[in-house]
Amino acid sequence: MKLSTELLILGGGATGLGAAWDAALRGFKTVVLEKGDLAHGTSGRYHGLLHSGGRYVVRDPQSARECAAENAALRRIIPSAIEDTGGYFLSTPADPADYADQFLAACHTCAVPVTEITTAQALQREPLLNPRLGRVFQVRDAACDSFDALHLLAHGLRAAGGEVFLRHRVTEILKSGDRVVGVAGENLATGEPFTFHADLVLNCSGAWAGHIAALAGCEVKVTAGKGVMIAMNSRLVNTVVNRLKPPADGDILVPVGTVSVIGTTDTAVPSPDQYAIEDWEVDLLMGEGEQLIPGFSRHRALRAWAGVRPLYDPGGKDTRHMSRAHALLDHEERDGVSGMLSMVGGKFTTFRHMAQLLVDAACAKLKTDRPCVTARTLIEPPGTPLHALPKRLEALESGKWQTASDATTDTGQPPTASHQQPAATICECELVTRSQIETNLRQSGSPILNDLRRDLRLGMGPCQAGFCAYRAAGIIHETLGHSHRNSNSQLLQFLQERWKGERPVMWGHSLRSLELDLHIYRSILGLDTLPTEREIEVYPTERTS
Ligand SMILES: Cc1cc2nc3c(=O)[nH]c(=O)nc-3n(C[C@H](O)[C@H](O)[C@H](O)COP(=O)(O)OP(=O)(O)OC[C@H]3O[C@@H](n4cnc5c(N)ncnc54)[C@H](O)[C@@H]3O)c2cc1C
Repeated sequence: MKLSTELLILGGGATGLGAAWDAALRGFKTVVLEKGDLAHGTSGRYHGLLHSGGRYVVRDPQSARECAAENAALRRIIPSAIEDTGGYFLSTPADPADYADQFLAACHTCAVPVTEITTAQALQREPLLNPRLGRVFQVRDAACDSFDALHLLAHGLRAAGGEVFLRHRVTEILKSGDRVVGVAGENLATGEPFTFHADLVLNCSGAWAGHIAALAGCEVKVTAGKGVMIAMNSRLVNTVVNRLKPPADGDILVPVGTVSVIGTTDTAVPSPDQYAIEDWEVDLLMGEGEQLIPGFSRHRALRAWAGVRPLYDPGGKDTRHMSRAHALLDHEERDGVSGMLSMVGGKFTTFRHMAQLLVDAACAKLKTDRPCVTARTLIEPPGTPLHALPKRLEALESGKWQTASDATTDTGQPPTASHQQPAATICECELVTRSQIETNLRQSGSPILNDLRRDLRLGMGPCQAGFCAYRAAGIIHETLGHSHRNSNSQLLQFLQERWKGERPVMWGHSLRSLELDLHIYRSILGLDTLPTEREIEVYPTERTS
């Protein structure tokens, strides 16, 4: 495949899709290349917090100001991906008492809206919190579902005429002399090579930005800062809860959908593709959770996962203290290589602002003046509700998702009056129906079972795919006509991915649930004996914590 475009954006995370949407709205012919699925990188593995700015007011006022402004902007443009939980900064007996005054003064300096409330008010809203609270401040934190946000951006991009190519890995930067003129790579779904020529290449590949820059002969030192998070099985709080102290490990609890997520740790890893969840990280997070909610570790931990921060702070030493700020790199000025700009660092919360700066710089390079309109452009959600369970339940109960195939699955008979049949629910925990899966498979260019997890939240709920993975694999097999071996391989990969996250928190309820899953898949369905396209490890063999 050989194509050409005006702006070619590398990376389908928040930064890349944000920049692509912005550029397409300014009238540029825009293409995004992503080696995985949407939200395949750090954007799909973050803590879920739309920062109010409070976390950064004392140490990083610039980031605090940007977060406060972007918090307001994202609420305007992608409201359907945001749950307005509000946030608390509160001091537990383990936190320094003198930080509160410093925090309050810094919030005022950085224009981060803040109100002090009484501990009684906080405990009334959040009864599980530590009753020995000191001072409590209310801020405008919120929860943001990054899968929904990125789908909205891709939707907005396509509506503005742009394109996203998934599973397209860039392996080469094409140059003419010292000018970048395009990229080459491989379509991972088909194995075919591709070439894209472009007026300008924008490197938005997050923690991989150094690898992409190196392909163009430029040195960009991005540090991969790993952070581990644990999802607890229920919403222990309905408000984002931050400890009132300088940023540290395990000091934030975020309610995300049906779960609450404690995080994070922060350690440098040699590569964004190679990292493990260590036992000490799990112990630390569970221990810090006790400070916020006494008895925290007796609640069920559902799974653990990690992401890598793209940190750009050439002078920085340890990752916890490295700046979270973003940097726009003009490779012509910096390295004598024209035709390419890189945007590195930053936060999910500030992606829109980073995208604006990057596309402003692209306009300057291409000698055109086109104003940014993203701060006030609402992206209307597509027809189906996104991930929020109440919206899904509403759609299900109102019969909006009834389709002929849903009815067929429920009754085993062809539909006579399909509009009267309930929709077939394939994943009960996250309310994913057969028709949603079929629509997703039809719309996706190169669908695989693992995409249904990111796209629809299939298998993300309390049973961790115990009952839905084999059903969905069957639907993929029927719908797409993949070979049995291919379908089996996809099922095994999907389960492997689920078990990888369960393994670090395998005790109590989680262990019992995993045992049940193993019995379903190994004893009943004979997972160990399925013929596959290649050898895949089918159940955990590593040491568990
Ligand atoms: C543990 C943790 C918790 C966090 N919590 C928060 C939070 O609560 N709030 C917040 O605002 N921020 C948070 N962040 C920061 C935030 O998640 C990141 O700053 C942001 O998601 C980075 O987005 P990105 O688009 O730059 O990178 P990514 O999302 O990683 O996107 C880069 C993309 O480039 C693709 N790519 C790489 N190489 C190639 C190639 N050769 N060819 C094609 N594609 C390629 C990757 O597959 C990837 O999808 C957190 C980060 C971590 C690690």
